[in-house]
Amino acid sequence: MAQNGLLINYQYCTGCHSCEVACQMEHKLPVDQWGIKLAEIGPWQISEEKWQYEFIPIPTDQCDLCADRVAKGKKPTCVKHCQSLVMEYGPVEELAKKINGQPKMVLFAPK
Ligand code: SF4
Ligand code: SF4
Repeated sequence: MAQNGLLINYQYCTGCHSCEVACQMEHKLPVDQWGIKLAEIGPWQISEEKWQYEFIPIPTDQCDLCADRVAKGKKPTCVKHCQSLVMEYGPVEELAKKINGQPKMVLFAPK
C-alpha cells in the first residue's frame, strides 16, 4: 500500500494557528500538546530590502495523518481548515513530485 504524507507549502502560511487548533480538537489533545505546531522564524533583516520571516507548521509524533477521518473518506482536519491551502494530503510519491522547483515546501512522511 502507498505511504501517505503531508506536503506543506509554508510560503503561503499566514500563521493563523487554525491547523493547530483543529488538530487539537479533533484528537482531544490537552492545551500543551499538539499534533501540529507552528514555528516562527525571524524576523531579521538580511539585506536592505529583504527580511527573513516565516511561519512553518510542523507535524509532531502525535500526528497520525487523521487516520480515522481518512478512513471515512474525509481530508485530514488540518488540511480542511487551512484557508491558505498550505497543506495537501496524499501518496508520498505523488506529493514529492510537486516539490520540484518550489522553494518553500517540506514533505512529512511518517511511517
Ligand atoms: S498552515 Fe494554514 S492553518 Fe496552519 S497556521 Fe498556516 S495558514 Fe494557518
Ligand atoms: S494530519 Fe491530522 S493528526 Fe496530523 S497534523 Fe493534521 S490534523 Fe493533526
